[in-house]
Amino acid sequence: MGTWLATIRFPDGTCKYARYSTVVEEMYHPLYAECSIGGDRGEVAGEPLPGRPELPRSAAADLVPVVIDVESYNDAWHALYCPRRALLAGPFSGFHRDRMQAEFELARDEHGVRHLGWSESTSLCGRPLTGEPLVFHDHLADWGPMEPPEPIEPVEVIDLYADWDEPDMCRACLLTTVAVLPERDVVRPDMTLTMPDRARTAGAGWWRRLLGR
Ligand SMILES: [Zn+2]
Repeated sequence: MGTWLATIRFPDGTCKYARYSTVVEEMYHPLYAECSIGGDRGEVAGEPLPGRPELPRSAAADLVPVVIDVESYNDAWHALYCPRRALLAGPFSGFHRDRMQAEFELARDEHGVRHLGWSESTSLCGRPLTGEPLVFHDHLADWGPMEPPEPIEPVEVIDLYADWDEPDMCRACLLTTVAVLPERDVVRPDMTLTMPDRARTAGAGWWRRLLGR
């Protein structure tokens, strides 16, 4: 347990740094302009960069796609930086990517744009989804700790935030996932949890379906 150095890589080649907690498995503010590499691990260095969390988030067109790398994890994830707040807009953890696949379907609307939705019919941004669900949802996650009656083929890991700049990806749906999937509810795939623990995981798809919601 402890903290690791998270490196936030910007499209122009520059980096900012933050700490990543191995307790809650997420990166947290503040951000730093510098880091020091020495000993067995890196550490943020210098003064924290001032953020402006009181300001509204930048418009979607102004958010900057970044890649976040946590030292020793070797499992970088795509995220967004908010220039107006000078803070990360999220996701704050690579596990967000897994939660998205556990919770959401991905399907196209009538214009061919890809949206995320709790169900196969309505997207997070409120559009009706007319297309067949695309390969995205992790059906194995629907069963939680239970054994599916028939073997389910695992889906490949898809980091949908990497498609932020793709014209056929709905940005509103991507941004909504940060609000509706609190990072701390992330269930680590390597954790063995009892059913009550999983049930407390807000919005867990298999639990909602069990309750008929
Ligand atoms: Zn959408």
